[in-house]
Amino acid sequence: MQTSQAQIQIEHVSRLFGQTAALDDVSVSLSKGDFSVLLGPSGCGKSTLLRLIAGLDRQTGGAIRIGGEDVGDRPPSMRDLSMVFQSYALFPHLSVAENILFGLKVRKVSKAERLARLDLVAAMMGLTPLLARKPSELSGGQQQRVALARAVISERPICLMDEPLSNLDAKLRADMRVELRAIQQKLGLTVVYVTHDQIEAMTMADKIIVMNAGRIEQVGTPEEVYARPATIFTAGFIGTPPMNLFPGRLFAGQDGLPQGVGDAQLIGLRPEDIHIAESGPEADTRGIEYLGADRLVSARLGDTDFIMRAPASAPPPPARFAFGWAQGRESIFDAATGARLTQ
Ligand code: ATP
Repeated sequence: MQTSQAQIQIEHVSRLFGQTAALDDVSVSLSKGDFSVLLGPSGCGKSTLLRLIAGLDRQTGGAIRIGGEDVGDRPPSMRDLSMVFQSYALFPHLSVAENILFGLKVRKVSKAERLARLDLVAAMMGLTPLLARKPSELSGGQQQRVALARAVISERPICLMDEPLSNLDAKLRADMRVELRAIQQKLGLTVVYVTHDQIEAMTMADKIIVMNAGRIEQVGTPEEVYARPATIFTAGFIGTPPMNLFPGRLFAGQDGLPQGVGDAQLIGLRPEDIHIAESGPEADTRGIEYLGADRLVSARLGDTDFIMRAPASAPPPPARFAFGWAQGRESIFDAATGARLTQ
């Protein structure tokens, strides 16, 4: 990536709370116009990082640059960004229109300009018929759209979002994912989006930043983090069900694996990359889940449990079966450090 395209640079950033490092020497560049997702389990530090970018909190070490400039001394309003939160943070006594316009009024944008922008943004978000209502008269999805409209109307180039869809039901969340992505692309917004939901990350991101315990595990496209997880943590966090991990000795001497695979390695195979074969390691079937298009087969090899995804059009496996895998699709990890060994 070219540095000139990096709109937000996080350089060796740490944030200590007493003895606890919420962030521990984190470095990453986020590109202009990208939808970047900070993804990780609860407590991994993603909200802390977003708050530091926003200027709502101050790092204890390192620097943050926006557009090449160190923003350490700038308050949130001077960082050229807007924010959307999980809670929406709408004013209950103001109408939808007033809520959307609130920030512009504060910034002293002329009335004619405000109304012109409101027309445009309300139309784009499907909010035109709702402009006179109060937030309490809106559904959750509509409230979320108002919060988004308020960010978009500011015309700031960067939008920070902290779990903005988590209060919506599953169907609406799926719709809003598509809508959000479309708006981001249409406006060329640089979005930094926090979530613990890997489906949100996989469906919306240009780039996923996988975080764990205050550190970055991997930065990559959804395809990269799925197909080539850099660590055992990412292998286990991305994918439903996650990547299977077999002790290397179970496969030592098998065709298709590099020589020397043994005790100290873990072989990672995605459930869909495993198939029933004429010969190969023999596993015992432990349970079968029918999902419509395919079946998830829970099986055991030695003392390792794993899951194979098999097309429902094929007969379910017998109690004991031999299996193979899509060669070249395996990930090999150092069992001690958790780091990926294969390319
Ligand atoms: P979640 O998905 O649950 O919001 P997160 O990944 O966003 O989690 P953070 O909120 O960034 O995690 O918190 C990271 C760590 O820092 C946690 O261990 C948390 O307890 C700690 N932490 C965050 N804010 C503070 C604070 N103000 N004071 C003390 N510790 C804090």
